[in-house]
Amino acid sequence: MKTINIAIDGPAGAGKSTVAKMAAAKLGYIYVDTGALYRAAALFITENNIPDEKIGTALKNSDISLKFIDGVQRVFIGNRDVSELIRTPEISMVASRTSAIPAVRAYLFETQKKIAAENNVIMDGRDIGTVVLPEAEVKIFLTASAEKRAERRYKELAEKGDCPPYEDILSDIIRRDYQDTHRDTAPLRQAEDAVLADTTNLDLEQSAEEIIRIINEKTGSES
Ligand code: C5P
Repeated sequence: MKTINIAIDGPAGAGKSTVAKMAAAKLGYIYVDTGALYRAAALFITENNIPDEKIGTALKNSDISLKFIDGVQRVFIGNRDVSELIRTPEISMVASRTSAIPAVRAYLFETQKKIAAENNVIMDGRDIGTVVLPEAEVKIFLTASAEKRAERRYKELAEKGDCPPYEDILSDIIRRDYQDTHRDTAPLRQAEDAVLADTTNLDLEQSAEEIIRIINEKTGSES
């Protein structure tokens, strides 16, 4: 059976994961957060102190995988569920750096392709529409201003009671944007056939509605 693939790319903090999750639930698709794979690779590299030149070989034995439990994605290194451990600012920065290494991207490419070949997916990342799923039925580039994205991340962290200053969050976002858009391999950019969705002035509900509207328009579906 031919599966339907929807690619959502964009910078850190644009709301991709929340919006993609809402849209996937509404459409009955699996939501795949590819950033979790890059974060798991970063955790593996950090924990094992792997120098850059050995990363390619080491990753082949890392056994990083995604599992979908009741439709919810969990990320594993071997049998160890690292879904929470990968969500620290330190791992964000390491992932942004190590994801520029071609061997890391090559290792994770197949995992992403396989999931998309076997399921109807909404897959979010940085290079899904351009590299991983160039034939995706729908491609969306979801973005918002850096200040707005920092403001959202600040509120999210403040609710958890563990909040760095707003200026630090903003400078982290600007640094990650730079790294993600300037790397040689699969840099973050809007695919030529992607629809641009700017959520600077939209809340999450409105952003999800906009995404669902684009998907329905492109797939000719009514729901
Ligand atoms: O999306 P998230 O912020 O969790 O991604 C962590 C890092 O992984 C990003 O900063 C980016 O460098 C990298 N990434 C990538 N390609 C993807 C998804 C994430 O390079 N498809």
